[in-house]
Amino acid sequence: MRHLPRVLIVEDESAIAELIAVNLRHNGMSPVWAEDGARAQLEIDAVLPDIILLDWMLPGQSGVALAKKWRSDVRTRTIPILMLTARSEENDKVSGLDAGADDYITKPFSTQELMARIRAVLRRRAPEQVGGGVTIGALTLDSSTHRVTLNGQSLKLGPTEFKLLNHFMNYPERVHTRGQLLDKVWGDHVFIEERTVDVHVKRLRESLGVAGSMLETVRGAGYRFSGQVT
Ligand code: CA
Repeated sequence: MRHLPRVLIVEDESAIAELIAVNLRHNGMSPVWAEDGARAQLEIDAVLPDIILLDWMLPGQSGVALAKKWRSDVRTRTIPILMLTARSEENDKVSGLDAGADDYITKPFSTQELMARIRAVLRRRAPEQVGGGVTIGALTLDSSTHRVTLNGQSLKLGPTEFKLLNHFMNYPERVHTRGQLLDKVWGDHVFIEERTVDVHVKRLRESLGVAGSMLETVRGAGYRFSGQVT
């Protein structure tokens, strides 16, 4: 089954949080609600969310202070943040974006607009979570049907190999360290030896047949998926 994007809602007004949560569930996402920064931090410590919806005015630490904090922490640095606020002044937008927010939405907002913004942020920051297909060369992966084809022929992949390929194909030409692959594919807080990555990469290469050479070993660094078949 496809991983449902986990959305952390940091919002002190329960009516707004509930409305957002209902819409997120309806759109195939998994919402988690925290009413202030301290609770949000506990949620983040437990499981990393895929995106954070962050209210500006919160009891305790403000949304801007939280965005700055999460941007400076290695563990949370790359999580997309969408700021929610009742303020609409230009200055506030600038300080929200300066603090590291990826996007900004002003209350009152339509839930349709919010969902569209969330999907846009996820697509930019984590394309593999939005679903749909990705094609590189003769290889196509469709995350909604869980199918991989090479020149139109179906390939058989194990579940971990599928997740690995999904990640590689969404971030081609980049070098991924074994540690990064463990975090992104196996999940944060999962304690597995880095050697396990090599085992699954080897299996993935074998399953890909002639396209296996698209998956390169970068000596001393990790792996890279390249569109250039060598
Ligand atoms: Ca508030």
